[in-house]
Amino acid sequence: MADARDMPKVIILGSGSAGLTAAIYAARAQLDPLVIAGSQRGGQLTLTTDVENYPGFVEGIQGPELMEIMRRQAERFDVDFIDDDATAVDFRRRPFGVKVRDATYHAEAVIIATGAGTNWLGLPNEQRLIGHGISSCAPCDAFFFRGKEVAVIGGGDSAMEEALVLTKFATKVTIIHRRDRFRASKIMVDRALRHGKINVLWNTVVDDIIGDGSVQGLMLRDVTTGDRRDFRVDGLFVAIGHHPNTELFRGQVELDEKGYVVLKKHTMTSVDGVFAAGDVHDTRYRQAVTAAGWGCMAAMDAEKYLEGHWE
Ligand code: NAP
Repeated sequence: MADARDMPKVIILGSGSAGLTAAIYAARAQLDPLVIAGSQRGGQLTLTTDVENYPGFVEGIQGPELMEIMRRQAERFDVDFIDDDATAVDFRRRPFGVKVRDATYHAEAVIIATGAGTNWLGLPNEQRLIGHGISSCAPCDAFFFRGKEVAVIGGGDSAMEEALVLTKFATKVTIIHRRDRFRASKIMVDRALRHGKINVLWNTVVDDIIGDGSVQGLMLRDVTTGDRRDFRVDGLFVAIGHHPNTELFRGQVELDEKGYVVLKKHTMTSVDGVFAAGDVHDTRYRQAVTAAGWGCMAAMDAEKYLEGHWE
């Protein structure tokens, strides 16, 4: 248990672009932030490749490198990090408590920036085959599919990005989408559709995954005709969106029906002194740069709250 002398003024949960930006702002406001960075430090951007829309990088930057730079920037202001997951929180009494394994840390303000996690299809064979042909991270796993044929499920920016990364290794990449139109940004769609290795199966869903020790194929269904057929692939990349990482906060702050943290005023949650930033509450924008913006706002709000002029 950290004693009062060591007590940070604010604890930040998460180390994606929201958490790290909050840390930089909080440190410069002399709030001595403690960041519980999580076991996947750097958040979702560490699972991407080219980030071309984060301002300031003319040629773009690799997601993991961007997060490393943000972390170093926070460290320059003496932010303390714990590279582990918070295991419990207590927002019912003050100072608030955050548990990491056997240690409990306290602060008068908390910023929740735990981001979002992968959505899976929920098919019977799916969990069993994750890591054996099923993945949600092409930058991490594409290498294993050199010379093989793979499928990507989804129609958003993540699906386009996964497919494009996979073309560097796989011989054929099939995007399988449940509708007849992608929701991804035009530039990403154009790149994917122009690529010689990428094919699209429209109006198609996966009913089952075939394979014992590894993925050998998919059972597909055309949603317009109802026709079913086997489709041979060696790998499956699931890119059907994300869910907010908020299990830890259930019963502690108000969540909406999809589990997103509800903001009550500016970045403050239903508990005075507990703020939220980034994909954990943002159902709409979910960009690296907007998450950073939310992190800045949450830190400024925490500062005002701690100074006693919150409104
Ligand atoms: P998303 O935009 O929510 O797209 C999810 C896709 O998965 C949709 O096409 C959806 O189909 C499909 N889907 C959802 N549930 C499904 C299911 N059960 N079975 C089959 N398909 C399903 O998620 P995302 O692509 O992860 O992107 C999330 C956010 O991050 C977006 O704001 C995106 O712009 C951003 N992002 C940006 C970049 C970039 O700028 N380079 C890269 C990655 C992500 P429907 O279209 O039919 O709903």
